[in-house]
Amino acid sequence: MNYLPIFIDIKQKPCLVVGGGDIAYRKINLLLKANAQVNCIAKEACGNIIALADDNKITLTQRNFESSDVDAQRLIISATDNKQLNAEVSDLANFANIPVNVVDSPDLCSFIVPSIVDRSPIVIAISSAGKAPVLARLIRAKLESTIPHAYGKLAELAGSFRDKVKSKFDNIEDRRYFWERVFSGVIAEKVFSGKVDEAKVDIQAQLDNTNSSEVGEVYLVGGGPGDPDLLTFKALRLMQQADVVLYDRLVSKDVVELVRRDAELVYVGKKCDRHAVPQGDINQLLVDFAKQGRRVCRLKGGDPFIFGRGGEEIETLAENNIPFQVVPGITAASGCSAYSGIPLTHRDYSQSCRFVTGHLKDGTMNLPWDELAVEHQTVVFYMALLGAQHLSEQMIAHGMRDNMPVALVEKGTTPEHKVWTTTLAELPNVVATETIKAPTLIIVGEVVKLREKLNWFDV
Ligand code: SAH
Repeated sequence: MNYLPIFIDIKQKPCLVVGGGDIAYRKINLLLKANAQVNCIAKEACGNIIALADDNKITLTQRNFESSDVDAQRLIISATDNKQLNAEVSDLANFANIPVNVVDSPDLCSFIVPSIVDRSPIVIAISSAGKAPVLARLIRAKLESTIPHAYGKLAELAGSFRDKVKSKFDNIEDRRYFWERVFSGVIAEKVFSGKVDEAKVDIQAQLDNTNSSEVGEVYLVGGGPGDPDLLTFKALRLMQQADVVLYDRLVSKDVVELVRRDAELVYVGKKCDRHAVPQGDINQLLVDFAKQGRRVCRLKGGDPFIFGRGGEEIETLAENNIPFQVVPGITAASGCSAYSGIPLTHRDYSQSCRFVTGHLKDGTMNLPWDELAVEHQTVVFYMALLGAQHLSEQMIAHGMRDNMPVALVEKGTTPEHKVWTTTLAELPNVVATETIKAPTLIIVGEVVKLREKLNWFDV
């Protein structure tokens, strides 16, 4: 290690910033975040710094730096573009044994300012010892995206129970076990979803009766249309903490790959020639797993609340008082249209968009065709591959022109993403002659034409 990472208390302590430009302003803000008492010396200061001084947030002295300015300072940052001045500040600070940082001059620094992920009171500092600051920043971006913002709140909450937990368990191992369960279970999830008061009650309940059998939780997670990069941060986090994951055929292999390695995987989709697990059984499975105290992830393709029967699954959970969360996903219509260069709405061609199910029941689709067969609208049919002929006939019979553009998107957003464009009249012919497999989405509307110009994915 070239540097020792430490966190230094500068609350209400005098800290000096030399320089009055944008970089100085950024450093001042950083010091203010840690509640320092900031003195800025700058002959000329930018508007933002002057505004801070006007608000009495800092003391600004507009004159040249003098050697006595370093006296009694806890920390010094020099952020001027005058090399000689920076070197002088550094020398004086070192002579007085005051930690000093000179922006962009590692050799003049006795401390460096790391990249920071701030989830106060949790703070993560990343440094490359000045060797590769951009890499440190990239690592920071990764951490930013995977550490929930509410970790700070969780740490605050834990802090407020620390003494109580200490007095309840004398053994450090017991304390560790207690906190591990709090930080990766239902209580933490409550904090993340803003229910801090409920979480407090739960921690207290656990302290009062640590042996009570704990009910688990169900996460109804939208896994998106296929490309794992389209998962939300929250979806990924819950997938990685679940003990059991129930998924079906619509969830892409690449997405299933991302669940926790040692989670139990339960496939509830159709198996070759056999039928899928009936919906009622899936609902019951979720309840049973949760009652065993497990964290259950019900992973669904697209968005769980769009033709996903997600509502039915959580209805059963609600009836059984099982805590649950719903994580939206990118629905097939959004994913397929984006990756096919077909905007669902467009100022000139389509002012509204409808998502409808094209699932055939007794050979027909029960849909309000008069409302669908209109111009300046995009209609997205889910589950309509088998009913494509019926769809085409009904749209035309209800007045839609037969040359209305249509796109079929197979396995949208995945490496097998494939698109056919045709017209309403030709649609049955395309489905009959081409080998098109599920899942496929059918988009009907003038916007389909834009693909000629806007396709970017499968060119
Ligand atoms: N909840 C899902 C939809 C479930 S219904 C969502 O929000 O996307 C299943 C239908 O969705 C399929 O029949 C197909 O029409 C469509 N679909 C889902 N994923 C798809 C994909 N990757 N490519 C094309 N269509 C898809």
